[in-house]
Amino acid sequence: MAKAARKSRPRVVKTVKALREALADWRKKKAPIALVPTMGALHSGHISLVALAKKSAKKVVVSIFVNPTQFGPNEDFSRYPRTIEADLDKLTAAGADLVFMPDPKEIYPDGFSTMLKPTGPAAVGLDDKFRPGHFDGVATVVAKLFTSVMPDIAIFGNKDYQQLQVIKTMARDLHLPVKVIGAPIVREKDGLALSSRNVYLSPSERAAAPVLHQVLKASAKAIAAGEDPETVLNRGRAKVVSAGFKLDYFEARDAGTLAKLTPQQARPKLRLLIAAKIGKTRLIDNLAV
Ligand code: AMP
Repeated sequence: MAKAARKSRPRVVKTVKALREALADWRKKKAPIALVPTMGALHSGHISLVALAKKSAKKVVVSIFVNPTQFGPNEDFSRYPRTIEADLDKLTAAGADLVFMPDPKEIYPDGFSTMLKPTGPAAVGLDDKFRPGHFDGVATVVAKLFTSVMPDIAIFGNKDYQQLQVIKTMARDLHLPVKVIGAPIVREKDGLALSSRNVYLSPSERAAAPVLHQVLKASAKAIAAGEDPETVLNRGRAKVVSAGFKLDYFEARDAGTLAKLTPQQARPKLRLLIAAKIGKTRLIDNLAV
């Protein structure tokens, strides 16, 4: 019996020039290309995006780049987990075709002078308030990834829900011909959303962490059943704080614009969004109502 063919590692390119050369043949053949942008330290959440990309396009490019411009001065840029060999093994198993892994100097060479400054869903008092400049860095790097790869589709996780809305808006506003797709959040059995930052959690912090998803679920159910959103949110805020978290926000927002709800407004589709710190680790999560 023939042995199952072992998958070969995807090609890794580090410069935009090499990336474009690697893509040229696929483009000539008009093979639809999907891009999955990541910061590495890959887990099953990232791999689910690669799986969706493989279903949606002929060729899958994954970028791995810990983007310095989206980290604040007191954030975890230098200690962010970097696990390149394990990432490449996972991408091999997932069937990615090409990995773009630039050095910071390739993306931000000396003299780099053009940062994007998104507003709209990037200026609604959620992560933008607690991570000033974060979405400038995200929008800038993703725009550069889009113009470098020129993918037909790009897949992002709903996990970073505000980021997804910022990128959809940015692609629309800049007429970038990329279809931006949001993918479901992959969770641990106990509900904790997978995140590269979960490795920072101590055992007791890890044990407390599922409260975020529990509160999201209970609150979405109560609001859907007609309870006053602010009352429900206050109850959830208290529960998260009593589990040992320092809460940045727990809000119900318009699912598209992320704007605050106004009493006059007909009830839009709602999204619950939460961000909270336990010890040194900041976790985010969200859920549709
Ligand atoms: P990151 O490497 O954290 O920048 O994430 C890269 C992409 O993976 C982003 O689009 C994230 O939203 C997505 N992602 C991260 N965690 C999850 C998860 N648990 N489920 C689904 N997508 C995720």
